[in-house]
Amino acid sequence: MVAHRFVESLLRSEDDVRTVTLIGEEARAPYDRVGLTSYFSGTHATDLELDTGVLADPRVRFIRDDRVTGIDRAARCVRTRSGAQHSYGTLVLATGSYALRPAVDGAELPGCFVYRTLDDVEAIRRFVERRQAQLGRQLRGSVIGGGLLGLEAAGALQGLQVGCTVVQSSDRLMSAQLDLAGGTILRRLIEAKGIEVRTGTRTTRLDPDASGAVAALQFQDGSMHEADIVIFTVGVRPQDSLARLAQLDVHPTGGVLIDSRCRTVDEHILAIGEVANFDGRSVGLVAPGYAMAEVAATRLLGGDATFPGYDDSAKLKLSGVDVASFGDAMAVTPNALDVVYTDPVNGVYKKLVLSDDAKTLLGGILVGDASAYGSLRPLVGAPLGADPAAYLLPEGGADLPDNELPESAVVCSCSNVTAGRIREAVHAEGCTDAAAVKACTKAGATCGSCLFAVKKIVGQELTKLGRATSDALCEHFAMSRRQLFDAVRVSEMSTFSAIIGRFGTGRGCDICKPALASILAVLVGAHVLDGENASLQDTNDHVMANMQKDGTYSVVPRMPGGEVTPAGLIAIGSIAESYGLYTKITGGQRIDMFGARLEQLPQIWQRLVDAGFESGQAYGKALRTVKSCVGSTWCRYGVLDAVGMAVRLELRYRGLRAPHKLKVGVSGCARECAEARSKDVGVIATETGWNMYVGGNGGFSPRHAELLASDLDDEGLIRAIDRFFMYYIRTADRLQRTAGWCVELDGGLEGLRAVIFDDSLGICEDLDAAMAVHVDRYEDEWAATLRDPAKLRRFESFVNATDTPDPSLAYVPERGQVRPATMEERSDPAVLIAGTTLEVRR
Ligand SMILES: Cc1cc2nc3c(=O)[nH]c(=O)nc-3n(C[C@H](O)[C@H](O)[C@H](O)COP(=O)(O)OP(=O)(O)OC[C@H]3O[C@@H](n4cnc5c(N)ncnc54)[C@H](O)[C@@H]3O)c2cc1C
Ligand code: SF4
Repeated sequence: MVAHRFVESLLRSEDDVRTVTLIGEEARAPYDRVGLTSYFSGTHATDLELDTGVLADPRVRFIRDDRVTGIDRAARCVRTRSGAQHSYGTLVLATGSYALRPAVDGAELPGCFVYRTLDDVEAIRRFVERRQAQLGRQLRGSVIGGGLLGLEAAGALQGLQVGCTVVQSSDRLMSAQLDLAGGTILRRLIEAKGIEVRTGTRTTRLDPDASGAVAALQFQDGSMHEADIVIFTVGVRPQDSLARLAQLDVHPTGGVLIDSRCRTVDEHILAIGEVANFDGRSVGLVAPGYAMAEVAATRLLGGDATFPGYDDSAKLKLSGVDVASFGDAMAVTPNALDVVYTDPVNGVYKKLVLSDDAKTLLGGILVGDASAYGSLRPLVGAPLGADPAAYLLPEGGADLPDNELPESAVVCSCSNVTAGRIREAVHAEGCTDAAAVKACTKAGATCGSCLFAVKKIVGQELTKLGRATSDALCEHFAMSRRQLFDAVRVSEMSTFSAIIGRFGTGRGCDICKPALASILAVLVGAHVLDGENASLQDTNDHVMANMQKDGTYSVVPRMPGGEVTPAGLIAIGSIAESYGLYTKITGGQRIDMFGARLEQLPQIWQRLVDAGFESGQAYGKALRTVKSCVGSTWCRYGVLDAVGMAVRLELRYRGLRAPHKLKVGVSGCARECAEARSKDVGVIATETGWNMYVGGNGGFSPRHAELLASDLDDEGLIRAIDRFFMYYIRTADRLQRTAGWCVELDGGLEGLRAVIFDDSLGICEDLDAAMAVHVDRYEDEWAATLRDPAKLRRFESFVNATDTPDPSLAYVPERGQVRPATMEERSDPAVLIAGTTLEVRR
């Protein structure tokens, strides 16, 4: 990767006529190693190729599939495996690293792999397919090494439907980047994805089966663990053998020694990337390598750039698990202060490390929600400019400052692009969106984690120029969500890969994937776990349940209008008792059961489905509940049947996916006991019909719904809600609630009335038809999952046998039920360990 960047930088000078010979041992064109894991979610090897235009330049000669075997420093030439010799004026070593295997018996058995190259991942895929066919069952895999790469490899095995255990010798995952508290939360998040984690354990031996392939691991305590495939991610070592043979200075721990000009002890030989050792360190991240490539190229072109040292910032790319660590994450700076936010309910841990006067940001750790990474990382070493809470609280919890980054703040650490360079791209080079800035400056071209910050700076600069800002969905789609919805609708495409191939670029991200999953759910009605769709979903949709603070899940069956029969209540009570679940009535008038483990979800849902329940979709950006009062059926003030209408609405809109969650309320008279005006749609009965209110919500910015129409009859009300929902679903931005959408609508409420009741846009027939398709096509997601063995495999966990208590889940009794134990309580022997038949004290 780094050699490619070096050549690319060198070619930027069009006047320079020198030629470059690029020799690579791999049989492929240079590719994006950082994106290697996307190979398991459908990316083709050729999609990972780095800009091939560089190799096509007449000044470049690219030789692949040939290994350099020796350097003759005196004659200034290199010899290769094929017997060729190439002379050089300057030699740049960019040979990267090789992946280590532990020195234990069996580490070379068939079925044992490292995780470094495209050849490695292709071999892993081929082995899994062959071994699965041989054994006729799902494979069990182990990843040895629980760092950044190990967790990526574990995600890759899951992508191949292989059950996975991560074995880590230290006391926590990602121990180089995370403190103990962050590591503990990460472990829960990883386990919640069905990946077993064993920390504080070393592998001492690997045993084969009769066929000679790996079959089991032995740990240092003597225990054995079955494994049909093993991936080692125990670290990398600089590939410095050429330098050693040529008697260049090499650090005792590996890596060719370089100075800040990237020069080795031989002035004609430079070293860049992972093979280089600067200041006693070689670092396995791409950003410092790219910085070295720029320095080396600039020096060759006559400049005087110097390598500033390593930035160890890192962000995990495992889908559904957000982790980032940057700057002085472990707070080793003398007198550094920690500001910590933990959200036990949602499994979030965030730490900012500040200077002793609490003004300058030194570093941080983000687990469970790394959305602030792009804003925070460029601020390392600079004043935070706001209350730390603004960065730590969940979205909307406190206002983020709109202050500008200093010119010198490095926004993209992979390509070393500063805020000043991005501003220059907007003002001097005419870039008007993040994609153009990326093409122009390389900001966001590698790991992409800075794109949010790039987008923000572009927006600020365009505003200064008095120009409209781009409403592109993300860097992969230049269209807004609304335009994309129409494009998918008109083209009738039904897969993410086809859509991004036609309307977008690249491989997608955590913004466009869930947005398209939601659009496809509305337009195609595909199940959330069908084929490619499964890889697009947010964390909760992945398992059709809401993850809780201890990594377990909550289960919410639908209760239309809040109505439930005594038999239904008994079924729920009996299920909750069997699985030791904590039960609570929700604000949306249904029953939430907390504490279910991943592998228990299908069993629990089978019993719920048998008792006549359906998924309540409490996990989705979809219709949640239709809350109602008892209305005229029981209440002496009621003027219309609120429960009957609420049930009818809930059955009509159940399963309807939207840009955000949807809630409805129905009150039987103006006394408003159902609090309908705090919902997206509020329905209130009057003597002359239903009044319909829209755009209400609770949360951080409560807003009362506004009156859209009065005195509607039943059919008129339903037609109006159909159109309101469908119009919103088609035109709102990603994650925009109806409240914000109503405020921003052209023509405001009056315009909305014209669309829905006067068909001012001529789309009512289309909106009605779309809702009719939704109603016809509805199928309970959980019932469909229970019928499909392929979908059920997602819930197989190797953490526990289903009837074995998980020792990491501890509960204490409270008010006749159980709740998760606090950290202090965990050391108390009275704490319970959760099993499937946990006794509940009454
Ligand atoms: C799965 C995975 C995920 C990663 N994710 C991230 C991430 O999120 N963020 C991040 O910063 N970094 C990440 N990295 C690390 C990143 O890929 C490396 O830091 C980067 O590739 C280093 O670039 P390099 O050019 O120094 O080495 P390489 O990319 O390894 O390139 C070295 C090349 O030199 C060739 N070579 C070696 N010896 C010879 C020889 N004698 N003759 C000819 N050719 C030779 C090798 O075959 C190789 O092709 C990840 C790595 C992997 C494997
Ligand atoms: S809103 Fe009216 S009908 Fe409904 S419970 Fe309250 S008083 Fe009764």
